[in-house]
Amino acid sequence: MTKFPEWMVRIAGTKEGYAGIEPALVEQLRASGIIWQDGDELYIKPDDAYVLNTHPEHAVCDFCNATPCTWRARCTDFQIDAARNGLPSQESLSDWACCETCGQLIANDERHKLLQRCVRIATERFQKKYPGVPARAIRTNIELLQQKFWRHYQRIVRLAN
Ligand SMILES: [Zn+2]
Repeated sequence: MTKFPEWMVRIAGTKEGYAGIEPALVEQLRASGIIWQDGDELYIKPDDAYVLNTHPEHAVCDFCNATPCTWRARCTDFQIDAARNGLPSQESLSDWACCETCGQLIANDERHKLLQRCVRIATERFQKKYPGVPARAIRTNIELLQQKFWRHYQRIVRLAN
């Protein structure tokens, strides 16, 4: 049985649906009843898989993982990567949540600054957790992801308070 990464939860009632969550928020999401454990796996209700729509206060920036989120980048669905090593393929569904800084960079179309910021933050984060992950691999992944994001991006709007 494949052990899925801690940042993925199953979407209840679907066979292969997964949602990404921020590991640091697991306890908070559990306490709120938004996610729950059944057997070895964590589940989320289909509606809440788009936490930005149902519980924006729990949303994490889809670019840099910061909280709180103050912007919504409207985006069409796209495939992030293909299935591999027993992991399901990942899709980007619906809009992306953005913190204030990333949202401003997107609003100003500062694509290079956004990329630099996300690469810096992700490199620190991943290398702390998985020492030995090459910085270059992290950069390449984020570059590809953001290229796809920009192709499917529509416009950015402020989250309503
Ligand atoms: Zn951000």
